[in-house]
Amino acid sequence: MRVGIGYDLHRIKEGGPLYLGGIEITFDFGLVGHSDGDCLIHAIIDALLGAAAEGDIGQHFPPSDKKLKGIRSTVLLQKVMEIIKKKGMKVVYVDSVIVTEKPKLSPHIPRMKKTLAPILEISEDRLGIKAKTNERLGEIGRFKAMACWAVCLLQEG
Ligand code: MG
Repeated sequence: MRVGIGYDLHRIKEGGPLYLGGIEITFDFGLVGHSDGDCLIHAIIDALLGAAAEGDIGQHFPPSDKKLKGIRSTVLLQKVMEIIKKKGMKVVYVDSVIVTEKPKLSPHIPRMKKTLAPILEISEDRLGIKAKTNERLGEIGRFKAMACWAVCLLQEG
């Protein structure tokens, strides 16, 4: 078994939609990013790559690559799953936390799980997605940025 940890933070911009957890959320704000800015998927990708000892998201998908401009992060996650499977590994469990002041995410989490679990090739009860605020403290608390944390467990062979 291998454990991986991932973290990501994106600036918030005015104007939606918000892409998070593989879904599109109707909202007045979105995330700045070379891709769709989906910081939950980016944190999960770094957890997976870390567990597989395959570097990080920036090495595989450099911001300088013009082909990746505006790409959906679900596509990036699919590419990372191919890397992991090629190494003979599979995902056992993923847990994650989204830290943001808004929007209220609990109504959206079931759809995030429904979208991400099949890509990760696990059942929805093996995918944890939690949301919390930063108690209005710091840049996240002032709604200037959103951060995500993820851990994963990979099985070898
Ligand atoms: Mg990112």
